[in-house]
Amino acid sequence: MCGIFAYLGPQNNASEIAITGLKKLEYRGYDSWGVAALDREEIAYYKKVGKISAYSTGDHAFNPSHLAIGHSRWATHGGITEANAHPHFNSAKSIAIVHNGIIENYAKIKADLETRGYHFVSETDSETIAHLIDSHLPTHTLEEAIKLTMSELEGRYAILVIKKDEQKIIAARRGSPLIVGIGKQEFYIASDIPAFLEHTNQVNYLDDDQMVVIDHRGPQYFDLRTNSPVEKRLITIDWLASTAEKGKYPHFMIKEIMEQQETIRRAVEQDNDEIQKIASAIENAYGTYLVGCGTAGKVCLAATYLFSRIAQRHVNFAVGSEFSSLQHFIKDRSLMIAVSQSGETADTLEAIRAAKTKGAKTLAIINVKGSTMDRESDFSIHLKAGPEQAVASTKATTSQLAILTLLAYACTGQLAEGKRLLLETQSQITDMLNPRYEDHIRSLADLLAEVESIYIIGKGVNYAMALESAIKLQEISYIHAEGFAAGELKHGPLALITTDTPVIALISNDETRQDILNNCQEVKARGAYVIGVASENNPVFDFWIKVPDAGISQGLVNIIPIQLLAYHLGLLRKNDPDMPRNLAKSVTVK
Ligand code: GLU
Repeated sequence: MCGIFAYLGPQNNASEIAITGLKKLEYRGYDSWGVAALDREEIAYYKKVGKISAYSTGDHAFNPSHLAIGHSRWATHGGITEANAHPHFNSAKSIAIVHNGIIENYAKIKADLETRGYHFVSETDSETIAHLIDSHLPTHTLEEAIKLTMSELEGRYAILVIKKDEQKIIAARRGSPLIVGIGKQEFYIASDIPAFLEHTNQVNYLDDDQMVVIDHRGPQYFDLRTNSPVEKRLITIDWLASTAEKGKYPHFMIKEIMEQQETIRRAVEQDNDEIQKIASAIENAYGTYLVGCGTAGKVCLAATYLFSRIAQRHVNFAVGSEFSSLQHFIKDRSLMIAVSQSGETADTLEAIRAAKTKGAKTLAIINVKGSTMDRESDFSIHLKAGPEQAVASTKATTSQLAILTLLAYACTGQLAEGKRLLLETQSQITDMLNPRYEDHIRSLADLLAEVESIYIIGKGVNYAMALESAIKLQEISYIHAEGFAAGELKHGPLALITTDTPVIALISNDETRQDILNNCQEVKARGAYVIGVASENNPVFDFWIKVPDAGISQGLVNIIPIQLLAYHLGLLRKNDPDMPRNLAKSVTVK
């Protein structure tokens, strides 16, 4: 959500470097953007509403500069206008800031500052930061003024600050991610690693209530609570820069769908002892709670079925934002399993912290090494899927599901059997993802492009995948889509079925099969157009999407054609599949 980028180093085109960095953060979702750079005389800046990709070097001439900060805004306070775009300034324009997050007490601070004569030019909460720093400056250094400002701000945020005549960038965070990239005498700060991965894969993570001051000598870190210096561990990110590019594909989404030809294998290549240790933690736990948001939440729900079936074990599930209303059950012997691609999802992170406060153990299943959840949890399992940049999750979803399946097997001492099954699932998915299969799904997208609603039904794991399918279709096609437990249809949703309403049924070859085929008959009798996702055709299907018979992994396999369908519906409806309207990757605000 929103992108922050900074550069300090020997190259003299800092603004262009910042713009390139912001382009690499476009996938996070934003509506306007801007950069500020230290010029010899002043802070030069440029702000725009709209896409950074529409910017070309001819649009604006930047003076040479060795230091710049940039921001892509996902508006929370104030409309989408140039005035509200970041950077924001103090009145003398000697301080520039960019900000990610929300300052919850901004109205009060703003009112105080206004009575003291400060003049605001935007409607944002962010502008208060620049004026507040200014208000401390006459009697303090820039570092001290920022520390004082941080102690007055409430909410979740990450900020970057530069000041005229000071060749340094200061960053601080509380709740929103900031990562420092360490190159050869050059330094970067960004909300996510792909932004600077072409320059360096050596990183330090800034933690909450920490500040970093970067000048030409490098970064110095401080803890804002204790006011003391902090040593940081240098982490090497093992992603190749090329994995953060679209390569031969027009969109990240289709690239990431296709990467599922190998991501399940990477996900299950985990250290056996480590997985076994985590499985013992699950077995010994006094209640295990799965927590995730959006797609990760649907994966958690699917895992409750898998743990029941494979490990005969009950695990609880809550979506991240609901967990605080359910946390009263958590004991010090409980285990929380948090699932998040980015490892930064605000609601899930809050759930982890709530569980830790009660003394519970936590396991993070995440894709981004070194992310906040990775650092704050007792155990971590990395998806190893490479960067996922399309807002709609695809490869991370199937990797998460594969890892939870593996854990369920490990809980019954059948880790090797679980790995064998998932590697077989991998080869089935590799076979599916071929051009002919995609063409077949495209032909279905042609049929559905103009429909008003799509319903998806499933039982067991396929029920969770029906909910996930609905998210995928909503995000990318903007068609009204809803998932239901197939058996629930007759308790209400059946009233929505009329002539030609598309109903997609996700089917497994197990004891649920006949029931759901009966449900297909029921909707067909009311005029529905039935699309069966199944390993075998059936007369009730108006359209058959063939999938391999994947046994326990059927949920994993059944979601693949729906991902392709969502992508092609998005294209047909002229939507940008990588950047769905109103949405952002890595939801770091509550
Ligand atoms: N709350 C700030 C604004 O609306 C920052 C939003 C963001 O994180 O991009 O400008």
